Amino acid sequence: MENIYNPYENVLKVMDEAVELGGLSTDMYEMIRHPQRELKVYLPIRMDDGSVKVFEGYRVQHSNIRGPFKGGIRFHQNTDLNEVKALATWMSLKCAVVNIPYGGAKGGITVDPSKLSKTELMRLTRRYTFAIESIIGPDKDIPAPDVNTNAQTMAWVLDTYSMLNGKPCPGVCTGKPLELGGSKGRPSATGRGVVISTKLILAEHGEKLEGTKIVIQGFGNVGANTARIAFHRGAVIVGLSDVSGAIRCKDGLDADEISKFVEEGHLLSEYESEGVEHISNDELLLTDCDVLIPAALENQITDKNAKDLKCRYIVEAANGPTTAEADSILKDRGIVLIPDIFANSGGVVVSYFEWVQNIQILTWSREQINKMLEDILTKAFADIKAVVAKQGCTWRMGAYIVALSRLITANEVKGLFP
Ligand code: NAD
Repeated sequence: MENIYNPYENVLKVMDEAVELGGLSTDMYEMIRHPQRELKVYLPIRMDDGSVKVFEGYRVQHSNIRGPFKGGIRFHQNTDLNEVKALATWMSLKCAVVNIPYGGAKGGITVDPSKLSKTELMRLTRRYTFAIESIIGPDKDIPAPDVNTNAQTMAWVLDTYSMLNGKPCPGVCTGKPLELGGSKGRPSATGRGVVISTKLILAEHGEKLEGTKIVIQGFGNVGANTARIAFHRGAVIVGLSDVSGAIRCKDGLDADEISKFVEEGHLLSEYESEGVEHISNDELLLTDCDVLIPAALENQITDKNAKDLKCRYIVEAANGPTTAEADSILKDRGIVLIPDIFANSGGVVVSYFEWVQNIQILTWSREQINKMLEDILTKAFADIKAVVAKQGCTWRMGAYIVALSRLITANEVKGLFP
């Protein structure tokens, strides 16, 4: 019988392995294996044609032991409670590995947003915010954008929450428009962090970003910003994809031109240029390159394709793109993988900067933000590297050991209530 991928079981498997390898106390670890709270809400929405539809939404709060819960909101037809639980757990690990004072949470609605009008999406977002209002807040749980949500979604979250609380509450979410307290550098922060991670691991092997051949799966907020920033720093983008399909060009794609094309409302399958071939997403993953960057969804690099990948490095921009089975194949093949909880943490780090600016009523410059982001990631990379060197383990195990030891220690210091 085929093995059905379960993202939450996947994260538990990886955490269990890291706890054993790192010799971490298993007593308090039991708490980290379970989220603190799962909320499921039903959201009735008046559709534009006058009918009423009810959507299912979730907010999972995994841990607030190191600070307020933090994590994005995803709109996707395949989103379910199990996926949101895994995403919330990864958020706790991510905030711990880069050592920012947040816990982890995630939210989602099971919906294909491409089938809703803008006004329907606004009503759905506002109703969802109303439904989770009692458990979120600037010092409780701070949402942000994720797949198929953006600054506009956050503007609706902010406005609904602020109206319910009778005052402007800019710190209730991050990834907001600049005009509503958003931070400079936030829209591109996750992609910038992915490029910094790529640069750091290449440097570790005496290589440079310039001239490095990169393939990126997914061309949304994270994929497109990763492509543009890497392209500006001299990398050669040999393949890109979105939900419509993939494009490939061995001499390199112009990430600026393609970003503009997509911003105008096109899909990558419609893009034509000299030397560009159209391929499937499956073929894209098997393209010859130095660095493969999955930046779409979970469960993309599996035991089915891991043995055929033709890259030397994988930098996980998406959350959970690689299964635990694929991990062990990649390890045997000597493919170096930089894990999601570190590689895509640029978004939550700059979200943290946005929140700090909001609660202190401050504004920082883009240069200041980008410099602080690079400093935090460089420090976290060094922390992971020390564990990798000591244990002789993969970078994923190194990152998990750093994150879990911080979470376990925080739990131990606090003790159990009652
Ligand atoms: P997005 O909605 O902006 O973009 C998603 C992209 O993936 C789109 O281009 C879409 O067409 C493409 N896609 C969807 N299904 C695909 C498939 N089967 N094959 C190929 N492409 C496909 O989402 P995003 O914010 O860029 O998030 C992408 C990933 O990065 C997710 O795993 C998310 O959790 C993670 N992430 C996002 C942030 C952030 O700040 N937005 C931060 C950390 C991690």
